[in-house]
Amino acid sequence: MNHPIEHWINGRAVPGTSGRTLPVLNPATGRERARVALAAPADVDAAVAAAAAAFESWSESSLARRAQVLFAFRELLARHEEELARIISAEHGKTVADARGEIVRGREVVEFACGLGDVLRGGFSDQVSRGVDVHGFRQPLGVVAGITPFNFPVMVPLWMHPIAIATGNTFVLKPSERDPSAANVVADLYRQAGLPDGVFNVVHGDKEAVDALLTHDDVAAVSFVGSTPVAEYVHATAVAHGKRVQALGGAKNHAVVLPDADLEFAADHITAGAYGSAGERCMAVSVAVAVGGSAGGLVEVLARKAREVKVGPGDAPGTEMGPLITHAARQRVEGAVATAAAQGATVVVDGRGPKVGDAHPECADGFFTGPCLLDHVTAEMDAYKDELFGPVLAVVRVDTLDEAIALINANPYGNGTALFTDSGAAAREFQRRVHVGMIGVNVPVPVPMSYYSFGGWKDSLIGDSPVHGPEGIRFYTRPKVVTTRWPRRAAAPAAAGFTFPTSH
Ligand code: NAD
Repeated sequence: MNHPIEHWINGRAVPGTSGRTLPVLNPATGRERARVALAAPADVDAAVAAAAAAFESWSESSLARRAQVLFAFRELLARHEEELARIISAEHGKTVADARGEIVRGREVVEFACGLGDVLRGGFSDQVSRGVDVHGFRQPLGVVAGITPFNFPVMVPLWMHPIAIATGNTFVLKPSERDPSAANVVADLYRQAGLPDGVFNVVHGDKEAVDALLTHDDVAAVSFVGSTPVAEYVHATAVAHGKRVQALGGAKNHAVVLPDADLEFAADHITAGAYGSAGERCMAVSVAVAVGGSAGGLVEVLARKAREVKVGPGDAPGTEMGPLITHAARQRVEGAVATAAAQGATVVVDGRGPKVGDAHPECADGFFTGPCLLDHVTAEMDAYKDELFGPVLAVVRVDTLDEAIALINANPYGNGTALFTDSGAAAREFQRRVHVGMIGVNVPVPVPMSYYSFGGWKDSLIGDSPVHGPEGIRFYTRPKVVTTRWPRRAAAPAAAGFTFPTSH
């Protein structure tokens, strides 16, 4: 590629003004595949100005017109699925099949947004007082910004912009600088779908671009998904600048296995949940909690399955797990395994330093590390406390379901959790008592459908608003309530009084 990946402002690609760029690497080869422009505050100003100008007419467009654009966008997303999946795989490293999965799950949010006529329907109360009616409806906020992480370059932005746009807002996306290309493809699909220029904009960049968005007078709301420290910073800064904020953070997800569970089934699903996408999912299973008699058998089956995972480049047939996002991420994850061993954990499967280059010579310098399985991990160890965001599964052994619930509730994160059991009573107990936002019963990665909302508890969500579903509609709109009277002269309406009005 000759020129850097550009911003997308007011319906076209623009180079930006900063002159700063960053390499975009293919994690499977370690080689640079492109460079991305990093926005200066002036570029953010241009994107916000385009979005503010577009808001004037987009917020006035009919629901039918908005639905038409979203339906067309949904069709284009489906038609370009393969192209997008290959771009994701080349910049993120995940398998092409996994990338297709994230596009499908993101597209479901567009499908939800296509029903905007239904979800935006207001309420009406007849005759709240004699001759007086009340109705309520919701209106868009204005220009809203989305700041998103590297691990789902298409799906996570799709949690945000279809809902924001359906409800009449205009959008500025700041995608991850590590895998930025897909955002521009999505922007062009919106253009092809008939979305007016300026309604959807992309600024690429780093902290400088983020700060410009967080402090911009014309940005009404900020949606953020990423690590917890950055989520806290984004939330505090944007709130201090008067914005509405939703900020989803990191995770440490526990899968609890009771002795009555089918161990082969549980281990199969925990393996996929732990090592899929090289563990770089906010809903990845990173801790298996073996209860009572399940521990020995569970670790044995988990070890066998971890050794069977096929590690390789994401676009090679048969690959189940690709590389990590950067060389630094690989070093961090491999260092964490060494620290776990030093702190007393048993390294049952050591996937560090896989020889991917033997079968794929072009991948000799890729950022691969294989599945790692740690046993006898305790809540005091760093491997338990830190979000490793890599293919490391830590087994913690406890005696009872009560202990498992106490462990999960003491953990600062509360994104997702799963229980493997044959007992409905245990499952009910678990889901009622656990302090976690998204729960799976015999489902390892319980990502809610688009018509429910997605979001964790505790340090996994800063502020109070999850994304998409009904909460997404609420976040991107604000309510109005209108009280109406149509006095008829002949009927001698009640005279105005000086006391506070009460219904009668
Ligand atoms: P990150 O926090 O490093 O980056 C997220 C975004 O913030 C990027 O666009 C980045 O450019 C920007 N950013 C990074 N540092 C910044 C700073 N100091 N100031 C301002 N902006 C900054 O996250 P990541 O490494 O891209 O993604 C992985 C993290 O995201 C993990 O912690 C994962 O759990 C989390 N995540 C959470 C969810 C969820 O739903 N809770 C979903 C996906 C990912």
